[in-house]
Amino acid sequence: MMIKFTDGRVIRVMEEKLCGTAGDGEIIIDNRERGKSKMDTIIHETLHEVFEDMEEDDVSDAANNITEVLWAFGYRLRRGR
Ligand SMILES: [Zn+2]
Repeated sequence: MMIKFTDGRVIRVMEEKLCGTAGDGEIIIDNRERGKSKMDTIIHETLHEVFEDMEEDDVSDAANNITEVLWAFGYRLRRGR
């Protein structure tokens, strides 16, 4: 799928059988992940793409905290995702 960011960049988002990565206009999510872990990875890799110079520890902390808040509000991936 293609996602348009607010800065106008169009980012390609895919699910593949490999660890999540981000960069060069592409976000890849590990298709073996499920549930809260997958939510965290989606947020984590998106943060890398939005804030390209953000330190890994800051990305991890932000993703973990955002995941906790969304999870507490009851957000979940649809069944089978
Ligand atoms: Zn990272």
